[in-house]
Amino acid sequence: MQPQELVIISGKGGTGKTSIAAAFADYFPNKVLADGDVDAADLFLVLQVTETQIAEFQSGHIAEIDPDKCRQCGKCAALCRFDAIVTSESGYQVDARACEGCKVCVNACPHHAIEWKEAFCGLWKESRTAQGTLFHASLYPGAENSGKLVSFLRDKARKKAMDEGIPLILVDGPPGIGCPVIASITGAARILVVTEPTPSGYHDLERVLALAKHFQIPTHILINKADLETSYLKKMEDCAAKSGATVIGQIPYSPLFSEAQQKGQSILKAFPTSPEAETLRTIATILKQKMDESEAEGQK
Ligand code: SF4
Ligand code: SF4
Repeated sequence: MQPQELVIISGKGGTGKTSIAAAFADYFPNKVLADGDVDAADLFLVLQVTETQIAEFQSGHIAEIDPDKCRQCGKCAALCRFDAIVTSESGYQVDARACEGCKVCVNACPHHAIEWKEAFCGLWKESRTAQGTLFHASLYPGAENSGKLVSFLRDKARKKAMDEGIPLILVDGPPGIGCPVIASITGAARILVVTEPTPSGYHDLERVLALAKHFQIPTHILINKADLETSYLKKMEDCAAKSGATVIGQIPYSPLFSEAQQKGQSILKAFPTSPEAETLRTIATILKQKMDESEAEGQK
């Protein structure tokens, strides 16, 4: 049986996406978790993790000039389209932050003075939590998130779920609509977009729904902080309908989410009888039903 994958994304940051993911982590039994929000990985803060595996993640390659072999001809600097080769008192050097790893300089150097080295952008981790196995990562300072790392974490989660017959993978996706988001949703069974009714929330919702539509993934919208600017609620519903998505629920602004976070818990655990927790349980139940229906459809 193929595990179903539910990815929670947000378009813009600060909508409460991770709080929702943490609540679902407490709600759904028997699942694998992946934190694809690698730039601001904080799901582990509310899940009490015990790291069981840590390894470096190779993000690609990088050029490095051997000063002993370099004859200072300048050919590499002239060819580098990313201006990543700079001169200093000690001669030509590669600016590691600017190097895109295209290998042009390595192949062009007439004196074979440029080495092609593996580049690592951070650590990936497998952790044990009370809610299930979590795959997550921490970037090295200055390193950029890439879709490659998000895909890697999802692959790890998928393999774990397949090996152990676990039916669900829950992914806390990255914000935005860039490469990491695309890497987090391709092939997913269902997307939940957590948004808020503000001008920027609306703008980002439009963009993220266009992305979901492009990949033909069934999508639902949870409007968090729904009382912020109520004039946007109708617009968001219209926007959802236009792209074939549905608004699955609304939650008014609540300080309980940050209070739960401060306790290192999800809102479901910290305030289980609150109306917010009740709404989230209802939404999670509907999502599960819809995923089960889709799976049954696919098996016909
Ligand atoms: S092309 Fe090779 S020899 Fe010339 S400056 Fe670059 S590294 Fe040095
Ligand atoms: S690998 Fe490409 S980007 Fe990096 S320094 Fe060489 S030419 Fe520039």
